Amino acid sequence: MEYETLAVLAGLPEDPHGAVGLAIYAVAAYGFKTLEEGQARFATGEGYVYARQKDPTAKALEERLKALEGALEAVALATGQAATFAALLALLRPGDEVLAAKGLFGQTIGLFNQVLAPMGVRVRYVDPEPEAVREALTERTRVLFVETVANPALLVPDLEALASLAEEKGVALVVDNTFGAAGSLCRPLAWGAHAVVQSLTKWASGHGSVLGGAVLSRDTALWARFPQFLEPDPRGQVPWEALGARCFPERVRTLGLSLCGMALSPFNAYLLFQGLETVALRVRRMSETAQYLAENLKGHPKVKALRYPGLPEDPAHQNARKYLASGGPILTLDLGSLEGASRFLRAVRLFKAPNLGDARTLLVHPWTTTHSRLKEEARLEAGVTPGLVRVSVGLEDPKDLLALFEEALGAV
Ligand SMILES: *Cc1c(COP(=O)(O)O)cnc(C)c1O
Repeated sequence: MEYETLAVLAGLPEDPHGAVGLAIYAVAAYGFKTLEEGQARFATGEGYVYARQKDPTAKALEERLKALEGALEAVALATGQAATFAALLALLRPGDEVLAAKGLFGQTIGLFNQVLAPMGVRVRYVDPEPEAVREALTERTRVLFVETVANPALLVPDLEALASLAEEKGVALVVDNTFGAAGSLCRPLAWGAHAVVQSLTKWASGHGSVLGGAVLSRDTALWARFPQFLEPDPRGQVPWEALGARCFPERVRTLGLSLCGMALSPFNAYLLFQGLETVALRVRRMSETAQYLAENLKGHPKVKALRYPGLPEDPAHQNARKYLASGGPILTLDLGSLEGASRFLRAVRLFKAPNLGDARTLLVHPWTTTHSRLKEEARLEAGVTPGLVRVSVGLEDPKDLLALFEEALGAV
């Protein structure tokens, strides 16, 4: 079935009252009638016990995400950060190494440098070009970490080439697919990525109202090359032998949810489940509007540079055409200087906020906000210039938006 069919039908559980929609289980614990029943649920992990590990509302969300991303398994977590952390916790041990793309989401870099590095994981940053990655790989590299669309540089890596290189070297390709909008814009697992992490806070939620994240993975024998899946776990079973490719998502659930407690609230799971029903529709409309804005603003005398992967002359265009369903809902404008950006943002009658995927258009000045903690050199390397403004296009009428942009550019 096609994406938009799955988006409204997949994951809906059978309801005892015939409810057309998802019920919220605002429940912490699930009881059993006999000692034997309790024993069986603890031994097999089937059924529900305690909502930190698994609950029916999040389960419905996981089923829907699985269908939309074409995954073997999905694990929902409290935030996108929690998803990234849980996925890496499941794959890395002290002494292991991560190769990460340059220009990642700032907080992901923080997670690598301030959390994983002190735990004994070495992280190195490379251009996510297959040749550069091949050269940088070592015996200890376990994970190659990239984003579907680097932000705000708006570059799209060659996912298929990176996946085949990772497969050849026994390394897990983990893609932060937040910009893939729950698979409506990009499905990295279909190109060979071994795992996807994503923030559901952005386009999946769609209204800037709730936080959430997910880890998804595909069927693969790669996990048989990771020692943690070949050693007996505390239950005495060897994960790879007992679970096959499900050993990785199961470890994410155990470490991320049961042990570290990064559980998604049932209320948030409900809102995200609903957000997924319209994500394809919203992202298509946002992308059409972004394309319209890009075409109409690119020659503007006050705009020094404009980046949008949907423009044929854009450096990301070729990979965007291959990997993305459209040019996407993000564009950037360079107003030439900090002063230019400051005047533009003061004049523009739209929200300035460090979020993405909201129904409202949101603008941000990465130099002074999201990337302000990086050294100037690192900012420039990440494609962040003093005049750059990032635009997450919303659902407003395209002509109204263009008029608001032109009005503010008049003030630059
Ligand atoms: C927002 C974001 C995250 C973090 O997600 P949260 O839900 O805010 O924790 C991770 N990666 C990317 C690319 C993001 O945009």
